[in-house]
Amino acid sequence: MTARILVVDDLAANTKLLEVRLTAEYFEVIVANNGVDALQICRAGRCDIVLLDAMMPGIDGFEVCRRLKADRLTAHLPVIIITALDEARDRVRGLEAGADDFLTKPVDEMALLARVRSLTRLKVFMDELRSRAQASNKIGTLELLQLSADREALGGHILLVDDRPSSSERVAAALSEHHKIDTVAGITEAQHNLGAQDYDLVIVALSVRLFDPLRLCSQIRAMEKTRQTPILLIAETEDRARVLRGLEMGVNDYLMRPLDRNELRARVRTQLRRKYYTESLRESMQATIEMAVIDPLTGLNNRRYMESQLGSVLQKAETRRRPVSLMILDIDHFKRVNDTYGHGAGDDVLKGFAQRVRQVIRAVDLMCRLGGEEFVILMPDTDIDYAATIAERVRSSVEGSPFPVEGGRNLPITVSIGLADNSASAAPEEILKRADIALYRSKTNGRNQVTKAAA
Ligand SMILES: [Mg+2]
Repeated sequence: MTARILVVDDLAANTKLLEVRLTAEYFEVIVANNGVDALQICRAGRCDIVLLDAMMPGIDGFEVCRRLKADRLTAHLPVIIITALDEARDRVRGLEAGADDFLTKPVDEMALLARVRSLTRLKVFMDELRSRAQASNKIGTLELLQLSADREALGGHILLVDDRPSSSERVAAALSEHHKIDTVAGITEAQHNLGAQDYDLVIVALSVRLFDPLRLCSQIRAMEKTRQTPILLIAETEDRARVLRGLEMGVNDYLMRPLDRNELRARVRTQLRRKYYTESLRESMQATIEMAVIDPLTGLNNRRYMESQLGSVLQKAETRRRPVSLMILDIDHFKRVNDTYGHGAGDDVLKGFAQRVRQVIRAVDLMCRLGGEEFVILMPDTDIDYAATIAERVRSSVEGSPFPVEGGRNLPITVSIGLADNSASAAPEEILKRADIALYRSKTNGRNQVTKAAA
């Protein structure tokens, strides 16, 4: 897992140092010595992650970060701001400028790699979403990926695992103003809570003596339910080796004692923000993919989906020498419903119609809304005579009882149906045309009936 990292610092000695460390870990490094160059490189799409010195002449790091986050082209780039150690307030300032993480100078190697790796993981996740979105050929991907984490990273539900009351009380006190904290000391209790609750973050103190805290971290990563839950370690200076092992097994971040209250809050906020962000991305991606193939009114698949499926279903049937039938359904005098009772009533009829028809067709039948009051049902492995009995079942069920619509009315509705199969041709447009002609005959012969295409 690698990434192209842009290192921005006005001092060549600093960029050199970071370049050497990152290159040793097989990251690709690009260097800029001022904010203007940095912005240009980012806009040209030449990097994946930005390491940004806070104090630079000209445009300082905070301003560069603000501009990156305000620009549609660069808003999705993860930014790590590097501040001097004595600028404790600036760490939080960096996050306020929209930075995704922060480091303090002199830059500790473990901290550098932990934060860069964590953002690389996020980048890999976003790239995957991007390619999946492209594969499903949908629109609005860019907008989606540029969604900022609108939700404030507050109100998190946090599990704190720490067996030293003096320490856990301090952590809880720093966080409880904005988050809900559950504190546990034993591993059984921790496991129980993780199974019973949904946590947004787990904080584990490496000083725990009753059990191996890294064992718990590895269990959290292995459990399906908590695989994605961020983990934050609290460590002593002499714990470095164990922190490294934790980071290798997927711990997201760590803090060193003595704990800085602001840093603790900021790191918790960063992890929560990232979690909410990836969650909302995943959800919107799912919704967008569904939207591309689903008719929002009826919940049925849409014309696009039907067109994508019809060809392959017919082809498969052709090679296996199996029958396929297809019916086109058109609600009779639907325009009258809209004209007389309004479009709200029309929508209610369409929804009720989809629901009722779905109840009388089989699970293997694929029902789609072609548009307006027109629907298609594709019936694999079904000859036209059996398809006709299903079509008749649909017709009589629609006629059977009126459809409730807004305003407490019940409207009697009927449907005309045309049927065709693949016996004459396996070409999608051909079978659709024949079903359409049959439907036309149902209409001209008085509606509310099923007509089979002429053989
Ligand atoms: Mg500087």
